Amino acid sequence: MSKLTDLSYVKSVLAKHSFTFSKALGQNFLINPSVCPRMAEECGCGDSVGVIEIGPGAGVLTNELAKVAYKVVAIELDKRLLPVLEETLSEHDNIKIINGDAMKLDFVKLIEEEFNGGEVVICANLPYYITSPVIMRLLEEKLPINSLTVMVQKEAADRICAQPGTRESGAISAAVNYYSRPEMLFKVSKGSFLPAPKVDSAVIRLHILKEPPVCVQDEKMFFKVVKAAFSQRRKTLSNSLSSGLSVPKQEVTALLDKSGIKSNARAEEMTMEDFAKITNNVHTISK
Ligand code: SAM
Repeated sequence: MSKLTDLSYVKSVLAKHSFTFSKALGQNFLINPSVCPRMAEECGCGDSVGVIEIGPGAGVLTNELAKVAYKVVAIELDKRLLPVLEETLSEHDNIKIINGDAMKLDFVKLIEEEFNGGEVVICANLPYYITSPVIMRLLEEKLPINSLTVMVQKEAADRICAQPGTRESGAISAAVNYYSRPEMLFKVSKGSFLPAPKVDSAVIRLHILKEPPVCVQDEKMFFKVVKAAFSQRRKTLSNSLSSGLSVPKQEVTALLDKSGIKSNARAEEMTMEDFAKITNNVHTISK
């Protein structure tokens, strides 16, 4: 059995390297031994499918990924963890650790260089302070990956997996649903981490779509419309679009009318098709 499922071993290696947890870097390490094997199994990596991990920490998930995938590339921002990972993952010869920032790294180049056109998935217990920006970055870059399996705070997971047009939906639900089919996998209690965060988490999987589910003439405008629509959640769609797009209310009312949407509707009632209709009619307003 791997030593990395033994909490006292992990704690002793961290202590040996005088490691202290950084709240700013979202360092809550998994200590529940059943979570990482399950993530490794469910993320879709394997004999012919490589995996990229963001933020390996002490290497507990990396270790499980390396047992299933033919190759693991893990990106860790905190230099202090490099000697820790060298020690905890020394049994494996299929892991490459890169010291870098997942918000800045060139993933297209990394995938080309490390996986040579082969199949790749991403699997991570994401640092919570960059959950949405990192997910959006990976999706917007249209990387040649099959899926993203990530642990995020439970509330973020609910929002990301919500279907546009339902009460729980937000701008991130529409954006994620444009690029992928999100799926809630399982919940993880806050007691599964060291140190324990204040809230529970959940593992979600985003299956990358080959084509978006709706046809929009201008992708940038689609995301601008979605962002503007949710910018003032409590207001009606016409008010939030008017201020978010800097367009007079009258013109927004005409735009919604043309798109077959009531002007007193709210953003959370909008389906992907509704957002697409609004986007494709934006050119009809004067500004
Ligand atoms: N995978 C480990 C686990 O499950 O125990 C650690 C997960 S911890 C929630 C997040 C990890 O991401 C930390 O190791 C942290 O140092 C790293 N990290 C934070 N910001 C990062 C960034 N911008 N790029 C890459 N890694 C980052």
